[in-house]
Amino acid sequence: MASRNPSTSTFKLNNGNSIPAVGLGTWQSADSQTRDAVSYALQHGYRHIDTALNYQNEKEVGEGIRMSGISRKDIWVTTKLDNPWHHRAFEGLDTSLKDLGLDYIDLFLIHFPCSTDPSDSSKHLPDWDYVKTWQEMQKMLESGKVKNIGVSNFQIKHLEKLLNDPACKVVPAINQLEVRQYYSRDPPYHLNLLDYCKSKGIHCTAYSCLGGNSSSPINKHTNLSDNLVVQKIAKAKGKSSAQILLKWGLQRGTSVIPKSVTPSRISSNFDLNGWDLSGAEMAEINAIPTRVKVVQDDWMPIKVFFGDDE
Ligand code: NDP
Repeated sequence: MASRNPSTSTFKLNNGNSIPAVGLGTWQSADSQTRDAVSYALQHGYRHIDTALNYQNEKEVGEGIRMSGISRKDIWVTTKLDNPWHHRAFEGLDTSLKDLGLDYIDLFLIHFPCSTDPSDSSKHLPDWDYVKTWQEMQKMLESGKVKNIGVSNFQIKHLEKLLNDPACKVVPAINQLEVRQYYSRDPPYHLNLLDYCKSKGIHCTAYSCLGGNSSSPINKHTNLSDNLVVQKIAKAKGKSSAQILLKWGLQRGTSVIPKSVTPSRISSNFDLNGWDLSGAEMAEINAIPTRVKVVQDDWMPIKVFFGDDE
């Protein structure tokens, strides 16, 4: 990382730009809570906000940004192209820009490697895959409306197909992935997607790194903070379990985007300075055998997550 302060430091991307290491996640944040959370986070040091067209809260994210009083140029905003928008990616981008009230986005991601029929989300568009979408994303860089482009939920086989296609002129800057201790993507549990991305110069951002939303009706929650090993290390270091989990992610080289709408948690999730997990502590956390995946693909018309990384 570029500086010794993990919260305010950055990770360098393959195009020379840098992404703030810690961002605020906003999935499943309710409307008014989103606005307040974004504003609070920015006023308390965050410079990176993660949203998506699919979260239906870009308007509130934009309001929170403006409410914070922090200059636009100092904030990194990530949003994502939703599955029904793959074949009309520029329209999707313009929708996000309008809702956010911004004239550019710092990072635009393909949310999932799956294009769906806008009139029937149970159907995959047969003549449109993410390689075509990527060609549209590449054009966006020239438009000035997007500073960096990347992907999300891409597995090795998606990336292999994309990177080996002659139409791929820009290597994705980022792959945003589910990564947490219970889904570390380390062998022997998973093909090492993180190492693969690193070998291709693709930075990984870890999502659901605290274990996901405990009150969500649609995804699993993993009670990761209650893990006894995590709690023991947290107690020994005088930190919260969440801080241990975030530090673990940062020390493994991923940026992290914890979601919270609770001011005290937003602050403490960003308060990661002046201490590190030792090699022994990292090893102890790495050795926790539990594996749970939060985000599933059963709501999409094609499989996106494969058995080889379950
Ligand atoms: P997280 O792992 O960030 O967990 C969020 C949950 O943890 C919320 O219930 C929150 O509660 C709680 N929490 C936050 N901080 C603390 C703390 N210090 N102590 C105890 N509990 C805490 O889950 P997400 O699944 O939301 O992932 C984070 C972000 O990643 C998303 O919001 C989204 O921006 C992104 N994401 C991207 C995906 C993709 O497909 N690209 C998929 C999933 C997520 P509360 O808010 O009540 O404080």
